[in-house]
Amino acid sequence: MPVFTHGVALCLSVSLVALALGGCQSPPAEETGDRPEVVSTSTMITDWTARVGGDEIDLVGILEPGADPHIYEPVPADSIAFEEADLILYNGYNLEPNLIKLMNAAGIQARKVAVAEGVTPLDFNYQGRTVPDPHVWGSVQNVIQMVELIRDELIQLSPADAALFNQNAAALIAELQQLDRWITAQIQTIPASQRQLVTTHDAFQYYATAYGLEVTGTLIGISTEEQPSARTVQQLAESIQQLKVPAIFAETTINPQLISTVAAEAGVALAPTELYSDSIGAPGSEGDTYLKMMVSNTKTIVENLGGTYTPLPPSL
Ligand SMILES: [Zn+2]
Repeated sequence: MPVFTHGVALCLSVSLVALALGGCQSPPAEETGDRPEVVSTSTMITDWTARVGGDEIDLVGILEPGADPHIYEPVPADSIAFEEADLILYNGYNLEPNLIKLMNAAGIQARKVAVAEGVTPLDFNYQGRTVPDPHVWGSVQNVIQMVELIRDELIQLSPADAALFNQNAAALIAELQQLDRWITAQIQTIPASQRQLVTTHDAFQYYATAYGLEVTGTLIGISTEEQPSARTVQQLAESIQQLKVPAIFAETTINPQLISTVAAEAGVALAPTELYSDSIGAPGSEGDTYLKMMVSNTKTIVENLGGTYTPLPPSL
């Protein structure tokens, strides 16, 4: 299992800090072995890396479920995690700008791999510039490429465990292939004129492109640092009225207040379930793994845009 920044494994390595804070228990013996230290940034990367690496790696996930990577401010424990890492797996394409800055600070010796930058990006127009859109995990085929990259990096880090990493990655990729086919079939049940996504921030370009939807409106761009003006809110409400979309969507990592204002002004429904955009859900929630996050999002989109939802086959 991965540990997040405040978890047991990190407490072990910063026992003095932990002692001062009085928060950590002694780790179990198996936590103290010579396993390589892997640090991941986004919760999606943490999820895939935990699946591929299993018990053979010590994994520390920096972002907690529900945190927004665009605006995340690193804490001292994150610097310590980076300093002690053998391998850092981060998204890249500037998804997590403050963590990337910290990671590139002097003294961080770990190998650094931008997992998402192995994927051909879709362009996005950001304040007059064309930049790569960082939300690549919206396409499951992209995720399969990223899992292969993570597998290869772990094998390089710990060649003795190659067989296990290969086996774990193959099992995950088989699930992802099935998920990909299932999402495609689900979206096709939505009437063609209603395959339109309106969300708070522009995190669904890859999902839309891969599965046949159109992103017809967003309040803000690919980074949640932007704040929409009153005029932007009004314009989006007006365009939604013209588009005649059945529903628009809020996201788990962003305050839903503005998008619900848009829904009210446009006289359109706000889907009762939020989409998981830039993070998996908290443990125990409907979207607490990458796979479950994609299932939940697809269910929400299909049910609210007039499609016919059929649950994922139980083999997954
Ligand atoms: Zn985002």
